[in-house]
Amino acid sequence: MGAPEAFTATADVGHYIAGRVVPGASGRQQAVYHPASGRVARQVALASADEVNAAVAAAVAAQPAWGELPPLRRARVMFKFLELLNQHKDTLAAMITAEHGKVFTDAQGEVARGIDIVEFACGAPQLLKGDFTDQVSTGIDNHTLRQPLGVVAGITPFNFPCMVPLWMFPLALVTGNAFILKPSERDPSCSLFMADLLKQAGLPDGIFNVIQGDKLAVDALLTHPDVKAVSFVGSTPIANYIYETGARHGKRVQALGGAKNHLVVMPDADVEQAVDALVGAAYGSAGERCMAISVAVLVGDVGDTIVEKVAARARTLKVKDPMSLDAEMGPIVTAEAKARIEGYIATGVEEGAKLVVDGRNFQVPGLEGGFFTGGSLFDHATPEMRIYKEEIFGPVLTCVRVPDFAAALKLINEHEFGNGVSIYTTDGGVAREFSRRVQVGMVGVNVPIPVPMAWHGFGGWKKSLFGDMHAYGEEGVRFYTKQKSVMQRWPESIAKGAEFNFPVSK
Ligand code: NAD
Repeated sequence: MGAPEAFTATADVGHYIAGRVVPGASGRQQAVYHPASGRVARQVALASADEVNAAVAAAVAAQPAWGELPPLRRARVMFKFLELLNQHKDTLAAMITAEHGKVFTDAQGEVARGIDIVEFACGAPQLLKGDFTDQVSTGIDNHTLRQPLGVVAGITPFNFPCMVPLWMFPLALVTGNAFILKPSERDPSCSLFMADLLKQAGLPDGIFNVIQGDKLAVDALLTHPDVKAVSFVGSTPIANYIYETGARHGKRVQALGGAKNHLVVMPDADVEQAVDALVGAAYGSAGERCMAISVAVLVGDVGDTIVEKVAARARTLKVKDPMSLDAEMGPIVTAEAKARIEGYIATGVEEGAKLVVDGRNFQVPGLEGGFFTGGSLFDHATPEMRIYKEEIFGPVLTCVRVPDFAAALKLINEHEFGNGVSIYTTDGGVAREFSRRVQVGMVGVNVPIPVPMAWHGFGGWKKSLFGDMHAYGEEGVRFYTKQKSVMQRWPESIAKGAEFNFPVSK
């Protein structure tokens, strides 16, 4: 593959309402950075409540006709969108790299995992197939159908500006809803690009709208009576707020929050495989993944070897221009995020953990203004330390030593987050016991980042998910539809006279 083409647009980023791009009218905007150079690349509009209301009104007007279409016709739009996404996947990947900072090859992976969900959504006719029972009572049949909610919204984080919106809107659309996306204000460009592809695919105007913005736009969506459901992915305090506020306003809410994912290395694990897994899952995407591994739980006497080998790799990570095809790690998304991560490293030192590799004060020649930090590694952290308890969301791996399997399991189960977890072992019995007992929603056995496939659904436990339905998969279909049960009989089978007792099968 030749050098990929960089994304260099400088025009302000507006909203997308009723099938066209609309410049911001609130007078409020925010800088979008190019984290590799540290420069301001463009401005993104921040919506007022009036702009949110205009998007909701467009969606309300368009949704009934879309919801009436046969599922197969909606699926055909999704098939065309899939074709266009595949044609433009590298453009989207370059857009992600430009605004987020993750390396281009990782951004390609993000787009590919998003495309998986679109492929799943293309099966809408099958996914919406109801149940039917003949003769629940003499002459009476009972069937269930799933109908759209109406207008639904998605609020998404900076770390997957393409994939996380794709967790939501393909399924919301094929099930007959209109959708309002409120992307992260830090990397908003993918949202408008995908809106344009949907239009090219034949989606009617008003069915997919994008509102750029911050808390003000989110609050307007959360309290709007015509928004029937909200899907959220982001940090735990905001997920909690979205869940409570949305529920108080009568909405269905799924709110996925933050994480602190552990990888357990058992004494019988293949050491080289475990080291590869830790390095890739801790430092890939500069640790800015909700499924990143941020804690290594080193069981028994494997500790010294693992720490020594991971340290050697962390010191030699290829941290460079993220458009370079051999880059392993790019910059952090913003200067504030970099300062927060480096602040945690200082905290870890103060708390008494051993800083084996210090990634602070890292510079990339030619990109001195970029928000780069190197990979960092702590050893001998303990459960009371903030660097163990809190989500750092950066390239910092924290090692905790434990004596045995039981102590590893207890440590993980006592953590407030429960998003992902992984175990490296060659013992099937231990792996099975771990998978069954661990209080975490997504488990990897010799798999460091166990992100479920499109038809399985994604969601953590504990403070990593508020609500009861996971993103995408069959739960995604259920989230965006309401079930209706119909019981019917025809005049010739109706007995004469009113019945006053509770209906039972006859
Ligand atoms: P964030 O919570 O800061 O922002 C997420 C969204 O909420 C954005 O669209 C933002 O504009 C909006 N928002 C921010 N502050 C708000 C407020 N006070 N009121 C209303 N809305 C607000 O998250 P982020 O920094 O963009 O993303 C990183 C976080 O997302 C991490 O905690 C990561 O673990 C989490 N995440 C979780 C998953 C998951 O599936 N569980 C996936 C990806 C990211």
